[in-house]
Amino acid sequence: MRTQVAILGAGPAGLLLSHMLHLRGIDSVIIESRSRTAIEATIRAGVLEQSTVDLMTEIGAGERLKREGFVHHGIELRFAGRGHRINLHDLANGRVITVYAQHEVLKDLIALRLRTGGQIHFETKATGLEDVTSDQPKVHFRTREGEERELACDFIAGCDGSHGISRQAIPEGGVRKDYFRVYPFGWFGILATAPPSSDELIYTHHDRGFALVSTRSPDVQRMYFQCDPNDSVDNWPDERIWEELQTRTGGAGFRLKEGPIFQKGIIPLRSFVCEPMQHGRLFLAGDAAHTVPPTGAKGLNLAAADVHVLARALSTYYASGSTDLLGDYSRTALRRVWRAQHFSWWMTSMLHRFWEGTEFDLKRQLAELDLVTSSRAAATTIAENYVGLPLT
Ligand SMILES: Cc1cc2nc3c(=O)[nH]c(=O)nc-3n(C[C@H](O)[C@H](O)[C@H](O)COP(=O)(O)OP(=O)(O)OC[C@H]3O[C@@H](n4cnc5c(N)ncnc54)[C@H](O)[C@@H]3O)c2cc1C
Repeated sequence: MRTQVAILGAGPAGLLLSHMLHLRGIDSVIIESRSRTAIEATIRAGVLEQSTVDLMTEIGAGERLKREGFVHHGIELRFAGRGHRINLHDLANGRVITVYAQHEVLKDLIALRLRTGGQIHFETKATGLEDVTSDQPKVHFRTREGEERELACDFIAGCDGSHGISRQAIPEGGVRKDYFRVYPFGWFGILATAPPSSDELIYTHHDRGFALVSTRSPDVQRMYFQCDPNDSVDNWPDERIWEELQTRTGGAGFRLKEGPIFQKGIIPLRSFVCEPMQHGRLFLAGDAAHTVPPTGAKGLNLAAADVHVLARALSTYYASGSTDLLGDYSRTALRRVWRAQHFSWWMTSMLHRFWEGTEFDLKRQLAELDLVTSSRAAATTIAENYVGLPLT
């Protein structure tokens, strides 16, 4: 089997890349270990930056997103029992965010890719990469029937997420350096069948810890609260969860609308970057190369930004033979990655309780929240980063 670009992973990065390449006349094959049903049912991120929406629209995948996505012109920062609105639209020159669940993005991209002749091999696991520093790299994979096969290609795009295999093909130490930060807390996340409690997302700083009121659809609400990463969901019956969320988000007459909880989980918070994002003819994109704490809502959007840069570099190569943009890929992508890392770390540091911190640290946090909600310059920094930097 042979293709021009072998893509590992049918997440947002892999699917977007495959379709962008198709529009430029470049062939690709996607190898994906999970089933289509599993991918389309996994609820993850939900905040799309303006550039991600523009990109989806530009490649012909934006129709349902435009119809069913929720455009939010602002977010609320809530602390000391009071809400303060950050007007994203006004502060970021008309740029906004759209709430549209990641699995809906994936449904749209998979349907579009298959409709336009795309090759996605579901339930097919990449097991190894070979000769990535030669001009004839290969991907070894196992089919759903258990057959071991090989995909020869010009380039490999490692879009296989944080637990994929492609990053390991960049030798650690000599070539690859990993940068980590692990936070001393996690997020307890729930999905509940309930109407939205607010027209906009609410980020709350509270004495008992952070909470986020988010949404996935008119009937499904996504909420999180800061927790011990080693806690267990078994310790949290529904009543206790609602009590905790109501306590953290309450004040000034605000009350969450409750409903049956149908999913609970604890995610650890970490920041991670692997440098470089290229080795020979292997290019990493999305979570395969970096992870951000979800506080800044950047994970999916960074994946889209990476493949935007990569698709342009690959199409320049196939059109002219020039490897200049391919050679610049890692540097170009990493600049945005580190900006997003900084923003995600900043939001995390400002909004969470650090239990090992002192009273001084708490007062400083509250002063920072006061600053970003009362100074137009500081609020603009939040707004510009939250709606996302323009794609380069
Ligand atoms: C559990 C979870 C919850 C999240 N929740 C949020 C959230 O609430 N808010 C937020 O902003 N962000 C969230 N994120 C982050 C966001 O979803 C990711 O940043 C985004 O999915 C990155 O897209 P990607 O295409 O790079 O990787 P992924 O979406 O992870 O896609 C990678 C794909 O590669 C496949 N794969 C892996 N290994 C192999 C292999 N060996 N062979 C073939 N295929 C392989 C995987 O099955 C997967 O489909 C969450 C992430 C996770 C993992």
